[in-house]
Amino acid sequence: MTNQKTGFFISEEEIKKRVKELAAQISRDYQGKRPLLVGILKGAFIFLADLIRELDVEAEVDFLAVSSYGKATETSGEVKILKDLSESIEGRDVIIVEDIVDTGLTLRYLYDLLSTRKPESLKICAFLDKKERRIVEVPVHYIGFQVPDKFLVGYGLDFAERYRQLKYIRELTPEEVNSV
Ligand code: 5GP
Repeated sequence: MTNQKTGFFISEEEIKKRVKELAAQISRDYQGKRPLLVGILKGAFIFLADLIRELDVEAEVDFLAVSSYGKATETSGEVKILKDLSESIEGRDVIIVEDIVDTGLTLRYLYDLLSTRKPESLKICAFLDKKERRIVEVPVHYIGFQVPDKFLVGYGLDFAERYRQLKYIRELTPEEVNSV
């Protein structure tokens, strides 16, 4: 397992601290409510698992699986629902939990889709935000870290299904890009 510390890097300690801060903010905002966290698979599963355990309010979980980039690092702009929610979200306070907002196309699509299902409220919580890459506007209410325009892996984020298990976030090296 590599532990390359050159280039952009977010350590395990920084991640833990920030997740606690986000959870505190969400707990304050949803006091007396029981939010439904909707994790976007697969990338958000680690972030969601850490976030929900830091919440001071009761919460429920559901998942949506959407098509990913496959083995390429550029988005096709196409969003395909591979697995829909298991329950209705009508009247629920829903928080979409995503690993990273890049062009915004995925979240824009999902936000609009879930809005049509009459939730009481709908917010977005993204672990990473690559703001300079945005093509469409999307309302991200909770953000873990602003990150540069680099292809990042770890903490749930993959490259061709690898590196999700890393406890930190780091850049993909050119050698790793070419290894696929
Ligand atoms: P968007 O639709 O905002 O362009 O893309 C969002 C999705 O693209 C994320 O959920 C993630 O799967 C993928 N993505 C965007 N940037 C990165 C990145 O730097 N690393 C990884 N592993 N995935 C990324």
